[in-house]
Amino acid sequence: MQETMQQTQLSDHTKMLLDGQRRESASGQTIAVQSPADRRVIAHVPRAQAEDVDRAVEAATRAFPGWRDTPPRQRGRMLLRVAERIEECTERLARTIASETGNALRTQARGEAALTADVFRYFGGLAGELKGETLPLSEDLLSYSRREAMGVVGAIVPWNAPVMLAALKIAPALCAGNTVVLKAAEDAPLGVLMLAGLCNEELPPGTLNILTGYGHDCGAALVAHPKIAKISFTGSTEVGRGIMQQAGRRIVPVSLELGGKSPSIVFPDADEDWAVEGIVHAMRFTRQSQSCTAGSRLFLHADIFDSFLERLVALTSALKIGDPLDEATDMGAIINEKQFNRVCGYIEEGLARPQARTITGGLPPQSGPLSEGFFALPTIFADDSNDWRLAREEIFGPVLVAIRWEDVDDVVRMANDSHYGLAAFVWSKDIGQALRTAHRVEAGWVQVNQGTGQVLGQSYGGIKQSGIGREFSLEGMLDSFTRKKSVTVNLSIPAT
Ligand code: NAD
Repeated sequence: MQETMQQTQLSDHTKMLLDGQRRESASGQTIAVQSPADRRVIAHVPRAQAEDVDRAVEAATRAFPGWRDTPPRQRGRMLLRVAERIEECTERLARTIASETGNALRTQARGEAALTADVFRYFGGLAGELKGETLPLSEDLLSYSRREAMGVVGAIVPWNAPVMLAALKIAPALCAGNTVVLKAAEDAPLGVLMLAGLCNEELPPGTLNILTGYGHDCGAALVAHPKIAKISFTGSTEVGRGIMQQAGRRIVPVSLELGGKSPSIVFPDADEDWAVEGIVHAMRFTRQSQSCTAGSRLFLHADIFDSFLERLVALTSALKIGDPLDEATDMGAIINEKQFNRVCGYIEEGLARPQARTITGGLPPQSGPLSEGFFALPTIFADDSNDWRLAREEIFGPVLVAIRWEDVDDVVRMANDSHYGLAAFVWSKDIGQALRTAHRVEAGWVQVNQGTGQVLGQSYGGIKQSGIGREFSLEGMLDSFTRKKSVTVNLSIPAT
């Protein structure tokens, strides 16, 4: 594993981007970035704090009027050129993502790098769509609305798909005429810094500024900065709640993409291979289930409970776990030691619970190549309760809980008995039944008979404690990154 890791050409971009320049932190302090696959330190990045946040926000504030007044299509063309730059080096970007996140190159990181280029292309093409409306108030009144840029957007992203999630804030915010200060996640900043370099080749200085730092000092300072006009946050519900409180003090608009504990409801007619494969995708096992969308509560009808699990175990146990950079690897490593220990804690709890049956997996190996990194096994517990900790809390690791159901009303009630409401999955060949169920499930996004990732153009976001606001789409850009102004003109004033 060591050898393959060392062959990787890591990005040499380990400095922040402030006002078009690569910068260290004002204090000179750094953060070590560790490879989850073998615990090696692979880079150091600046540890930004309040002073750096201030420099970044000031640069973005200076750049704002010029960027806002750049004709939208011209802004769009710059974003399209960024997409081309990304495409020229997707493999390098993908390898950087795999090295720092532990996500497998073949199954995850390459897709993330390719989608990042698509995000810039998609939003670059939307620059002509920042349209307002006219209102038919009367023949003597012209009333119209404008979609205006908000100012400096403060964006904060997590580590699980760091570059794609950063792009999903940067591209729509810039397209709409805002300037951006984005804080990368401390565990996975390298791909985002590489993206910053590519953007910087095409964008005016100060338009996009990237900070690396911890949440409690850099992130908190960004959220509290008086010149931030909008906060866009993706991360945990706990941190999101605090950010919303902070934003409330200044009445600053905020979009929150938070956690989930998404249900997958399987009807008896879906006891077939396509559905089992779909569940593996929905659970995001090949991203170690470090996905907000992961379908981590599996509601299986009693008639197919055992047979479905048998097929599922056959598939999950065939997943090859190991070096994220190895082409043969399906599933890589958990991001860091803290998260790894947390996941193991949940597994220990499942193993110790008398009512829970361990269907597959368990604690990670203590010796051998997998013990060099933070590798967890796909683990499935069967338990008829929707009320225990493993069925209620977001684990953010490859631990699936299978729950038996017999009555549709009951399963919908259990699926909705969660403070989360991000995603859901329904599996049945009876489309009427599937759609009726989909409509009853409380979630921002329900997929029927598939468990794929988010699609550009389709608004994405949660309800309940999974978040507020939508991103990923034209409507998401308009709602999240513009403010609407109405202008009413009296057309009946006397002629002079
Ligand atoms: P996290 O909330 O701990 O951290 C996310 C980001 O917030 C990081 O950059 C971190 O440095 C920063 N941060 C932490 N404390 C902060 C503070 N006080 N002020 C400002 N910023 C702060 O989450 P994580 O562990 O990095 O990521 C996993 C979580 O993200 C999961 O809950 C997952 O469901 C969620 N997530 C949601 C989506 C979505 O689209 N809904 C997508 C991906 C991940």
